[in-house]
Amino acid sequence: PPNTRIAVVTGGNKGIGFEVCRQLASGGATVVLTARDETRGTAAVEKLKGLGLPDVVFHQLEITDASSIAGLADFLKTRFGRLDILVNNAAIGGVEYVHELDTDEEKFSGLDYHQRLEWLEKNVNESVDAAKQGVQTNYYGTKHVIEALLPLLQSSSDGRLVNVSSEYGLLTVINNEEVRQELNGIDNLTEKRLDELLDTFLKDFEAGGTGEAHGWPTGFAAYKMAKVAMNAYSRILAKRHPELRINCAHPGYVKTHMTMSSGVLTPEEGAHNVVKVALLPDGRPTGLFFALGEEASFV
Ligand code: NDP
Repeated sequence: PPNTRIAVVTGGNKGIGFEVCRQLASGGATVVLTARDETRGTAAVEKLKGLGLPDVVFHQLEITDASSIAGLADFLKTRFGRLDILVNNAAIGGVEYVHELDTDEEKFSGLDYHQRLEWLEKNVNESVDAAKQGVQTNYYGTKHVIEALLPLLQSSSDGRLVNVSSEYGLLTVINNEEVRQELNGIDNLTEKRLDELLDTFLKDFEAGGTGEAHGWPTGFAAYKMAKVAMNAYSRILAKRHPELRINCAHPGYVKTHMTMSSGVLTPEEGAHNVVKVALLPDGRPTGLFFALGEEASFV
């Protein structure tokens, strides 16, 4: 039907992204499930079709590849002429994992939220290369996808953008008061300044191992900085585009590849917290942060 909502989900082949696709499609949207790997992506689409969800199509998308992004934009323009919902879900940990993913959740039984996070931090190695890739993927990759698909969202009568964020992107992860205030001062903050801050962070990280002395985050430092920047960018964009609804959503601490299954929520529960923001009822909340489906503070 012509009034079906068209949704794109990045990193839709597994984890939270796959579940976001399933839930949006169950709600009647036409879902473009994207994945960087064609085999993994088409397998995910087949799985959804097997669940009785025919309105899911695959398109390849590697968010760090400009030509891949352009290919998706062309496809959407030709096939639908617009985009109603964009869920930027794709991301990486920005760390090297010490172990391969092992889905044995037994070892976490009896551990609380913080003990699980502590376990996770002990089982990753924060190399400079992984940190750079984390910032490049999670912030710049996401930003480039947004820039390319924004005109299509503007062609919708109710364009919605949800950036899957994290409590690790709250400004409390930054220990430098001046930087924190600057990042919270959305009226004066620019994209160029965000680039500079990320550059400085990566230089300090490279020089000092963590950059802790400068007040930068520690423990998944690059991941945190990329999500902090993405949150700030979302707020800037929301101001610039009052015609759209642009929000950030923290899914919760979820058992996925990224957390080596250490989380406390299932992917289904995590995705529900994202889909809720994508399908907010009318009333145009925009430029907000949602944690576990409820409005929360960026700070
Ligand atoms: P997963 O590792 O399970 O899934 C990540 C998805 O992103 C995969 O589909 C992966 O593809 C894809 N991806 C990674 N890099 C790229 C790229 N360059 N181009 C395209 N796709 C890419 O992680 P989650 O499901 O846990 O994470 C989903 C989102 O939720 C992320 O934004 C994450 O930061 C956020 N989040 C997760 C939390 C958690 O506890 N799990 C907590 C807070 C936020 P592939 O399979 O090919 O690697």
